[in-house]
Amino acid sequence: MKKYKIITYGCLANHSDSERIAKKLEDQGYLKSENPDLVIINICSIRQAAVDRAFAQAKKYKNVIVTGCLLKSDYDKFTKYAKIVKKENLFSVKPKNSCLIPIMTGCNNFCSYCVVPYTRGREYSRPPKEIIDEAKLFINNGAKEIWLLGQNVNSYKYDFPKLLYKINSIPGDFWIRFLSSHPKDMGNDLIKSIRDLPKVTEYINLAVQSGDNEILKKMNRNYSIEEYKKLALKIKREIPNVCLSTDIIVGFPGETKKAFQNTVKLFKEIEFDMAYISKYSPRPGTLASKMKNQITFEEKSRRYSELNNLLKKISLKRNKQLIGQETRALINNNFIGKTKNFKTIKVNGSSNNSFVDVKITKALIWGLSGKIK
Ligand code: SAH
Ligand code: SF4
Repeated sequence: MKKYKIITYGCLANHSDSERIAKKLEDQGYLKSENPDLVIINICSIRQAAVDRAFAQAKKYKNVIVTGCLLKSDYDKFTKYAKIVKKENLFSVKPKNSCLIPIMTGCNNFCSYCVVPYTRGREYSRPPKEIIDEAKLFINNGAKEIWLLGQNVNSYKYDFPKLLYKINSIPGDFWIRFLSSHPKDMGNDLIKSIRDLPKVTEYINLAVQSGDNEILKKMNRNYSIEEYKKLALKIKREIPNVCLSTDIIVGFPGETKKAFQNTVKLFKEIEFDMAYISKYSPRPGTLASKMKNQITFEEKSRRYSELNNLLKKISLKRNKQLIGQETRALINNNFIGKTKNFKTIKVNGSSNNSFVDVKITKALIWGLSGKIK
């Protein structure tokens, strides 16, 4: 029996691709193993750290294939240790237990720091029928949670809220989640569908990247911090129990101490439930990598820690407010799962991959504890 291992770095879309690659290999008789004859490394060029880690892995194994959304310069580094395979269209492959569904690929936004428009190309939206058929297949196979993935689901060509509505009406007990939403085109109709459609979960990742208008302009994000705040507050007002997370880049070129403090101020004002904080990583070929006033690694690390410490305090405060509430949770394994609004929760029992009703009894920095009702 041929044995394989897949090592994945990067976003959920990349994980979705890995699941599809795994399915293809298993169809060809391969068996998943920690002692593999073939290693597939599926990576993306978003941050240098991931490329470095993947490189260390590639050197460790004998028969390695590298694939993913890589910059040409990163691909070239691997040629000595691995065979390079460009990703083909994986939409036609249906993974077995997966519930990650890419609804679109690519990106047209060209944020000045980001490689995605170069590595994944322009936006392409899959037709709704294809997505709905795939969702039905997963749900009939027992999927309890469907993630709809795109770099900017708000610019899905065939109307994203309408797609949510259609998937919501598929019979069955399941949740619908999605990633990511770009603040510049998140409309009222999407906020309403999250509020009104029972299967759509009250969790929104709305990447702000910086709390400073000068930096936002240099990042080419196309919104002001005032517009972002207005939108975030509207979301919190309109959707009961919503959890709001964001992405932040610290140490973007030219980010002064004052500009960084504007991000700190934003955190205090909005009180995000979660934030994915990255230290700015210059990517070859992007506009930002050629900008003046690059920030030192030490300063980026300092800003990262300051923000992360603040996030911990806010997250704990938000979690404490939930003690005593009752909620539904999907337990994945080892009694750990996620609440409907995507808070991590540890419970006192239940079997894997099942829904439970819980009462929240304890707040932790990054999650909750609860008792099954
Ligand atoms: N399309 C999504 C983001 C996808 S990339 C959006 O715009 O919301 C995921 C996250 O990686 C980004 O939100 C950003 O915070 C981070 N990121 C992207 N390029 C980066 C870089 N060059 N350095 C550091 N972080 C980066
Ligand atoms: Fe990258 Fe910006 Fe597109 Fe997100 S919206 S993938 S950050 S270019």
